[in-house]
This record gives sequence, structure tokens and C-alpha cells, in this order.
Amino acid sequence: TKHFPVRRSVRALGRGERPVVHAVDDVSLTLRRGAVTAVVGESGSGKSTVARLLARLYPLTSGELLLGGAAVPTRGGRSFRAHCRRVQMIFQDPFGSLNPVHTVRYHLTRALRVHGRAGRGAAETERALTELLGRVHLTPAARYLDVFPHELSGGQRQRVAIARAMAADPEVLLADEPVSMLDVSIRLGILNLLRDLKERLDLAILYITHDIASARYFADETLVMYAGRMVEGGDSETVTQRPAHPYTQLLVASAPDPDRITGAGADVPVGESEAPDAPVHADDPLSRDRGTGEPPSLISPPTGCRFHPRCPFATERCRTELPPRFDLPEPGHWAACWLHAPTTGDGNGTGADAA
Ligand code: SF4
Ligand code: MG
Repeated sequence: TKHFPVRRSVRALGRGERPVVHAVDDVSLTLRRGAVTAVVGESGSGKSTVARLLARLYPLTSGELLLGGAAVPTRGGRSFRAHCRRVQMIFQDPFGSLNPVHTVRYHLTRALRVHGRAGRGAAETERALTELLGRVHLTPAARYLDVFPHELSGGQRQRVAIARAMAADPEVLLADEPVSMLDVSIRLGILNLLRDLKERLDLAILYITHDIASARYFADETLVMYAGRMVEGGDSETVTQRPAHPYTQLLVASAPDPDRITGAGADVPVGESEAPDAPVHADDPLSRDRGTGEPPSLISPPTGCRFHPRCPFATERCRTELPPRFDLPEPGHWAACWLHAPTTGDGNGTGADAA
């Protein structure tokens, strides 16, 4: 769970005490080595916050974070540095994450040194650099090492950012919209590269995206977030082909072409949870196109099921009671929606493990 304090200007509008943005509530997920887990949601759903929590860029409000069964240390100190090596992150904008005044060689050498992998002497470092660039298919290395970020294409820059993450020899890669700012024609190449790295290096990849079609293509498991909560999960084929939650159904129906594997352009309007104190969600093509309303305020999220103001199936129960995770027939598939409550028993049973 992650709640952000609301900035003062917004606080003045409310009458209560200490309002918070419920950016992430009760989210639980497990990443596995050799697998891609997608977290899909629209702007402001909290999906980027989840990635940042896993990277310990923000402290948790409550809950726990385990890596290989052991508690992840909080920031600062030796053990946190070890965590940083094991968990690497790449971002949406490869331009923003590379320093324009430094060459590719500088970025990668520095990363190798920080993680103690630069080797002894110039020849070993050069070998390590060549290997890194080879991993991301920037060859021959000599052509790329001494250039500046602005001399590279967007796709090449993202490859450098991936190489820099790989310099740490990580176990987990957190990828926040890694292709959404790239040209449609090169997105597939980057996703294929990540998949290739996942297989060769046995990486666990968290893939944050607003594009459910790309999750189907790229991810083994897909989790869907709405308004700070996870609403559906399961293997990607099942979730994208047979979505059970009305919100997932809306996402799938809104994807212009279900077989399309790449997204419809960069998004992240103001109000995405990158800005921890920005609770207001810019209006959203999804809600506009479908005429089903806007994402709710996360300062005072809707009671019961957070999707109820937009849901065509909402009942009185949906407005008052939070639906737990209900298991669905396909193994591992679940949805937090009253439509899937078991019809026998007390109707509130199988999702008890959701908390
Ligand atoms: Fe719709 Fe109710 Fe299901 Fe929420 S719990 S998605 S409001 S039917
Ligand atoms: Mg984001």
C-alpha cells in the first residue's frame, strides 16, 4: 500500500484532515525468474507507483517487499546497495534517463564500476563494454561507445539504457512503459530484446504498460490495475482473450486492434502517479471514447468496488462492499468483482486470501 500526502494547495480545497492519495492499495504480486509479469492500467491507476515501490524509490505505507524470500532493506546502507544491483529499472523516456553530456562509454563504464564489474584494467573493461553492447545488439561496439545520447535514435537510446541496467547483472528488471515513447516500428524490437534477455539471463521482468495488447504479446502473466487496486490477474492469454472483470473487458474492447502488439503512442498526461502529489487525472481517451466516465479521484476513492461509477453491471452491493479476489475456472485466473462470487456458500468465501 502506498498513500501520498496531498500537497497543500489541494489540501486547502478539502475540509477534512490530512487527505492522502490512495495511489496503491493492498496490491500483492509475485515476480518469477524467467517470466514477464505485466501490470496494465490507464494513467493514474498506480501502476508506475508499483514499479517504484519495488525499486524502493518510495517507502511503502504498509506491507512488505521480499526478494528471494528475504525482506528488502530500506534505503541507505550496504545491504540496500546490494538490493540495487539485483533490481534494476528502465524508464519510459530513454532520453531523460541518459545524461546528454556523457557518452555511451561513460554511462556503461560507470554502471560497471558501481556494481564492481568493470574488471581490472582497461582491456577487461573494454571487453565488458563490448559484451554489454552485444547483449543489446548494438554492434560493433566501437560504433556506439563514443557517441552521445543525442546521436542515437530513440530505440538505440533505450538499448543503451537496457545495457546499463544489465551492467549490474540484475535478477529483476522493472520496465516502466519501456516502449511507449518509441516509434511504433521499433517497439517490437525492444520487447523482443527484453524477452531474449529474460530467457538468456533468467530475469524476472515487471512490464508496466497502458497497452493491454502488448501485454498479451510480451508478458507471461498479466495483472490489471484500476484506481490503485488490482482487479484481475492470470496468464496473459486468458486475461486478454477471456477477460472476466468489466474493466478489463473495457480495456480489451478499447484496444483499436486486439492483435496489434504495440500501443497507440506516448501517454502519461499530468496526473499519472509519477507526480506523487498530483491526484487529479487528466481526461483519458479511454473514458472519452467509451463514454463511461473518468478515473476516480484517489483522494476519496469510490466506496465498495472502485469501478462501480463506470461499471454497467454495478449493483447496490458493488457500491458498498469491496469485492475480494474470486478464483475463476482457469488455473491462476482471478477477478475482484462480485459478478464472479461463487453462487453457493456464503458468497464471500473463496476470495478470502485476497488480503
Ligand atoms: Fe462492476 Fe460490481 Fe464487478 Fe465492480 S464488483 S466491476 S461494480 S460488477
Ligand atoms: Mg506511468
